Amino acid sequence: MSDSAVARCHCGGVELVAAFPSRFCAHCYCESCRTTHAAGVVTWIGFKRAQVRYTRGEDLLRDYLSSEGTHRKFCGRCGTRFTFESENPRWADEVHLPLALFVTAVDRVPDENSFTEERPEWAPFHAFA
Ligand SMILES: [Zn+2]
Ligand SMILES: [Zn+2]
Repeated sequence: MSDSAVARCHCGGVELVAAFPSRFCAHCYCESCRTTHAAGVVTWIGFKRAQVRYTRGEDLLRDYLSSEGTHRKFCGRCGTRFTFESENPRWADEVHLPLALFVTAVDRVPDENSFTEERPEWAPFHAFA
C-alpha cells in the first residue's frame, strides 16, 4: 500500500495529499455536517495538520465559520466541501477530510458513528459491533 492518499474536489481545482497513518474514520450525523454538506451523513477521515499537504489550488478554498472556532473550508469554484478544522482542543491540530473526496485508497475504513442522536430517521445507518 502507498504511504499517502490523494483527495480532490469535484472540479479538480483543489487537491491534497494526506500522509498515513490517519487518526480515525467515522460517520458523522451532526446537524452542522449534514446541513453544510447537504447530506444525511458525512464520513470523515482525520489527519494531523502536518500530514496534509496541498498540491493544487489551496487559494481556491473559502473558509466558512460554522460555529465559533470551527472552520469548514470549501472549493470556491465548484462548492465541494473540503475540510473541517476546529480550535476545540479535542481536534486542534487536526484536519478532517470527507472520505468521499479521496481518489486513491486510504489506510482504514469507517468504524464508528458520531452524534447518532442527531440522525434523521431516513439517513442511511450502519451499526458497528
Ligand atoms: Zn473545486
Ligand atoms: Zn459532524
